Amino acid sequence: MTGFFYRNNYLYKVEIAKKKRDIRAFTKEQLRTFFETNGDQPFRGNQVYEWLWQKSAHTFEDMTNLSKKTREMLHDNFVINHIKVDQMQRSSDGTIKNAVRLHDDLIVESVLIPTKTRTTACVSSQVGCSLDCKFCATSRLKRMRNLNPDEIYDQVVAIDNESRLYFDRPLSNIVFMGMGEPLMNYNNVLKAIDKITSPEGLGMSPKRITVSTSGVPKMIRKMADEEVKFKLAVSLHSAIDEIRTSIMPFNATFTLKDLREALEYWYQKTKSRITYEYVVWDGINDSQKDVDALVEFCRFAPSKVNLIEYNPIDDGEFQQASNKAIERYVATLERNGITVTVRRSRGKDIDAACGQLANKS
Ligand code: SAH
Repeated sequence: MTGFFYRNNYLYKVEIAKKKRDIRAFTKEQLRTFFETNGDQPFRGNQVYEWLWQKSAHTFEDMTNLSKKTREMLHDNFVINHIKVDQMQRSSDGTIKNAVRLHDDLIVESVLIPTKTRTTACVSSQVGCSLDCKFCATSRLKRMRNLNPDEIYDQVVAIDNESRLYFDRPLSNIVFMGMGEPLMNYNNVLKAIDKITSPEGLGMSPKRITVSTSGVPKMIRKMADEEVKFKLAVSLHSAIDEIRTSIMPFNATFTLKDLREALEYWYQKTKSRITYEYVVWDGINDSQKDVDALVEFCRFAPSKVNLIEYNPIDDGEFQQASNKAIERYVATLERNGITVTVRRSRGKDIDAACGQLANKS
């Protein structure tokens, strides 16, 4: 674009760079309108949309069923801000960690976790995290920004490709347990899930997606109202306010009572079982009183407790509890009819396990 300005009796002619827009922020309808107002057929919008989402095109050049002129016109008006897997690390247990570079050079991490029958993608929802969970490495990175829907979607596509390449099968499950708090980037996470589950995207079943939250009551209620179809996991770690606040300080604001009421509401609306993520630490939450509080907390709805292995991130403030303490949790929960699993960590040797994502490289 050309512009003019006048200074000291001279008229200057300057080239003004046109600000290109992020094409993946456009809906299909908006793309159709764009083509229509530019004297082209609206169905071109459908073609471009398919290239962007179903075929994950990285450039306009890739869109081979469009004329050269149309591709140039798109190039003049838009950018495709694609993520780039900067570094891929493979663990001895098969786990893969991707360091993902965003268009503004910030980095997030995502993880592929293979088992005999499944491939799970663990994806990030924010760059850094604003919560301050004392046991989590991501909490040491200040929250820089929320991820856009396409940046979340692209992490999933990258892992799906890796799963096909290294394990000869497509991705089967997705967990929002990477960096960040998904419910503090609610709109973009939901938009990403819409694309992941849409036949115009990856066509995955929402039942294979789990959103994990530290527990933001207002957003849990909102999800319930919107009757979302994915699963919910809550990182509980303690059912006693004083203890939970000491390790997850935001619990002072979003107390267990608020959380529990929001979860009751969620269950009434969705009838979907709630999973609690729970690490048992030595001297912090390993007594019978802690187990009893958890049983009490779980009573209002069918629940499942995942006891996760602690992945050390510091010099010893937190230590994994003894096997005896874990066994006490398992026995008490089972006796009270609560499903419980004990989870081994994956990808520890490459800092890819729960709570270890911190852009170390
Ligand atoms: N903010 C979301 C998702 C990110 S954390 C949430 O809190 O759920 C993903 C899971 O890893 C959470 O259950 C979290 O409590 C757990 N986690 C964090 N640090 C950990 C560590 N060092 N060892 C084991 N699990 C950890």
